[in-house]
Amino acid sequence: MSPIDAHIPKDTPIKVVPATALPHIDGALSYRANAPVRVGQLVSTPLGKREVVGMVIGAANDTDINGMTLKTVTPYDADYHLTPDMRQFMDWVAKWYLEKPGLVLKMASSVPSALKQDALTMGYHAVATPDQANTVRRQNILKNLSGKMPESLAAIRELTGATASTIKAMCKDGLLAAVPIKPDHDQQYQADSNLISGRQQKLTVEQAAAATTLADAVTEQKYTAFLLDGVTGSGKTEVYFEAVAEALKAGRQALILLPEIALSQAFEARCHERFGFRPHLWHSGLGDSRRRAVWREAIRGTPMVVAGARSALFLPFRNPGVVVVDEEHELSYRQQDGVRYHARDMAVLRARLSRIPVILSSATPSLESLVNVEQGKYQHIRLFSRFGSAGMPDIKLIDLGKTPAERRRWISPPLVDAIGKALEKKEQVLLFLNRRGYAPMSLCLSCRERIVCPNCSAWLVTHKSAGELRCHHCGHNSRFPTVCPSCQTEGMIMPCGPGVERLSEEVELRFPDARQGIFSSDAITTPALAEQFFNAVYNDEIDIIIGTQMVAKGHHFPDLTLVGVVDADLGLGGADLRGGELSWQLLTQVAGRAGRESRPGQVLLQTAMPEAMVLQSLIHDDRESFIAAEKAARREAAMPPYGRLAAVILSGREEARLMMMAKQMANDWPHFEGVTLLGPAPAPLRLLRRNYRVRFLLKSSREVNLQRVISSWLDRITIPSAINCQVDIDPVSFF
Ligand code: ADP
Ligand code: ZN
Repeated sequence: MSPIDAHIPKDTPIKVVPATALPHIDGALSYRANAPVRVGQLVSTPLGKREVVGMVIGAANDTDINGMTLKTVTPYDADYHLTPDMRQFMDWVAKWYLEKPGLVLKMASSVPSALKQDALTMGYHAVATPDQANTVRRQNILKNLSGKMPESLAAIRELTGATASTIKAMCKDGLLAAVPIKPDHDQQYQADSNLISGRQQKLTVEQAAAATTLADAVTEQKYTAFLLDGVTGSGKTEVYFEAVAEALKAGRQALILLPEIALSQAFEARCHERFGFRPHLWHSGLGDSRRRAVWREAIRGTPMVVAGARSALFLPFRNPGVVVVDEEHELSYRQQDGVRYHARDMAVLRARLSRIPVILSSATPSLESLVNVEQGKYQHIRLFSRFGSAGMPDIKLIDLGKTPAERRRWISPPLVDAIGKALEKKEQVLLFLNRRGYAPMSLCLSCRERIVCPNCSAWLVTHKSAGELRCHHCGHNSRFPTVCPSCQTEGMIMPCGPGVERLSEEVELRFPDARQGIFSSDAITTPALAEQFFNAVYNDEIDIIIGTQMVAKGHHFPDLTLVGVVDADLGLGGADLRGGELSWQLLTQVAGRAGRESRPGQVLLQTAMPEAMVLQSLIHDDRESFIAAEKAARREAAMPPYGRLAAVILSGREEARLMMMAKQMANDWPHFEGVTLLGPAPAPLRLLRRNYRVRFLLKSSREVNLQRVISSWLDRITIPSAINCQVDIDPVSFF
């Protein structure tokens, strides 16, 4: 690579990475530029018949060019070049996830229209005094224009009565000038270091100590990773806001990653209150002109706060000051298609390369992060108490073996009791069941067949209110059948098990006077509906909230005192590496919704496995033993975070061919020291969107460079185009 930021003269042969999936090792092709460029400059790049965004990575040598005639790239605005730390970050991401550099560049240049100039608004103003004009008409035009700047030809005509040709002639004669007008940028997002005008809360002693540590690290501008580990409602947001404020004061940019950006109005309002301006939101639903504005301010280094989904990590910040990852344990930080990166892990990498602090915040940190603390890689900051008078809720188990619910009912007598009491006291109740729809499975009572998706090896889920069966994997839907698809018997299909809709029916039966609402991704499809729901809860228009995991996170319901978990065993006992950990996180988060203000909270967990480690640790408020046991089990099995995993997934229409290919791959496996190859085996989700799937799992110690092992294995194999081969480094899902 050329020296960083070296200027390359016009017409010199250069190497450019186009923002697309090229198979070359460095993803680059040779070109020449029609103007001087520098490394990192973004250029408009011809590729076949298209023009794509490209990035200059250095000068090309004779071998690169190999006698070809070079096409010409055109640099965009000189502002639009990526800094060395950003380029290093992109390189790392491509290498770590075995991805094409062009695809990573595509994420960093995700708003191609931002690179082009917006259509300019021209303003006309007088550049001569009336007495300099040679005709009375022209003198009058100049008089009318004095002190004004109409913003279009039509506007100047209206003001002066002059025709377009007169105006053009006057411009030519130097009496008028047309100047481009900078569009007013949006004041409400304006972050001015002298104008952090918001209201700062008075922090508690515990909070203030944490905030000072973080703010000092921002002032110092060196890389440190913090795990901000505080119980639900302890004020973690207030605390990391102080680090953000510090970055703004230094004229820098702050990035806050959030797992559920669509539900972020409350967050936006809090930011506004604290800083006196709105954060820039960044998510897939954002309109094009906002996207352009955010991308441009990022690359120009304007002080700003971006609150965004994982893709915000690839914004080309010129001047970053701090990165925050809120709810760092959330698996949704892992992108599951395209470039399969983990935004939390990459946020730490980005901070390291840009030499700035990163703050990972959670009430239920991931085991990965806790182990990083133990190994001295992350600095641990803890908040032990809830803010204000709120204590932690009291958590108890309901043993379904002793007090089961009646047949075809799911709320057991002790929970029914507790709900009744809460309603009497005019307090709110949350019933948590992490299952969308009415029933997770349907069965024909005549032939005992279960109804499955035609495209996937998965049960169809009954959605009663929509009158449909739906596949939660591929989106397939069909009317609820009256006849069994396999034995043709009529009227014998029965939904089995509960989803939130069915729970809602039971609540209706048992508490007909209570007002209830379902909070799930099927019911709450837009941010506006979410806001409406929250307002109804705040205004006490809802007594019983029935929710899936969507309701577990971050929300603050002041009058909610009772949380009932209908099936605390969901997610336990599975084969998933992180099953126990995920259960612990989810249940702790749900429990954390209870009693957040003055009235004490109560949590009841219905279970058929009261002895399960996770549940015991929850009722005894003994997170340390749970984590110690979980760590020991992982260490014993050499599983992450103590060992490394990678998956290779083949998929295709014909299962027999797929299996043959997989077996051949297994034969070609070169037996690397210290790496175990498991598989091939049909994936747990054997058929997905009509494609069969076969998996390999590679397992090694942390020291092994698994990426290199996989590359050298796959490099010797030619995979036919009918088969898709996907590599998943550090996988978080195993279906
Ligand atoms: P966490 O992120 O740890 O769950 P939050 O930062 O959301 O906690 O704080 C929980 C609630 O307590 C919020 O309503 C917040 O405004 C309030 N709160 C926390 N700390 C303070 C403080 N020092 N002064 C006033 N209100 C606070
Ligand atoms: Zn399906």
